[in-house]
Amino acid sequence: MTLKQRIAHVHQKVSEACERVGRSPEEINIVAVTKYVSTEQTARVLDEGILHIGENRWQNAKPKWEALGERGVWHFIGQLQSNKVKDVIGKFAYIHSLDRLSLARELERQAAAADLTVKAFVQVNISGEASKSGMPPEETFEFLRQTELLPHIEVVGLMTMAPLDGDAEAARPVFRGLRELRDELNARGACSRPIEHLSMGMSGDFEVAIEEGATWLRLGSILVGKEED
Ligand SMILES: *Cc1c(COP(=O)(O)O)cnc(C)c1O
Repeated sequence: MTLKQRIAHVHQKVSEACERVGRSPEEINIVAVTKYVSTEQTARVLDEGILHIGENRWQNAKPKWEALGERGVWHFIGQLQSNKVKDVIGKFAYIHSLDRLSLARELERQAAAADLTVKAFVQVNISGEASKSGMPPEETFEFLRQTELLPHIEVVGLMTMAPLDGDAEAARPVFRGLRELRDELNARGACSRPIEHLSMGMSGDFEVAIEEGATWLRLGSILVGKEED
């Protein structure tokens, strides 16, 4: 498939999933995850009008960001060590992997120094798998109370990853759990402004994620392909 065909295919699937549950495709934002592909392919993705680009490691993102940074809005989706915050501040508008207070404090410190605000998703380990990163759901309320006090971090939503080995239906309870957690946190007034967004759904399970309320999909292989394609 060409890139154009891939994008059209994804848009079709997004529309169908929205239709099944009475949502509007306008509620769905797509991050094109370019970690598997070259700078050239990333440029083509931008040429096709996709604005949001996701990378999980600065090392891999660096040449792409240096060539194309101005053209897109960059999302950091991988685990972030505090000593790597300096690499991402001012380059990545969104961090999808905010999972601990020490990281929040370091982001705050460097965002303040650079006089900017970072948008963040709190990564939650809904599935409870030991191998998954993200904080336990029961810690999110207190975490949000704390991050409210950090003026250079704007928590825009929650993020989770479903088990990678199961089929898409196996992801459903995980995605549903994230939505319910968001609604519960908002009902309890965890933040002064309700948290709106849910970053969930990858190539194998994004249709289920939409059915369960995703507002940001992170799509790699199905959308931009892998380098051998
Ligand atoms: C790689 C990656 C994705 C995209 O994966 P695909 O299955 O290729 O769509 C999404 N989210 C995170 C955190 C990733 O690391």
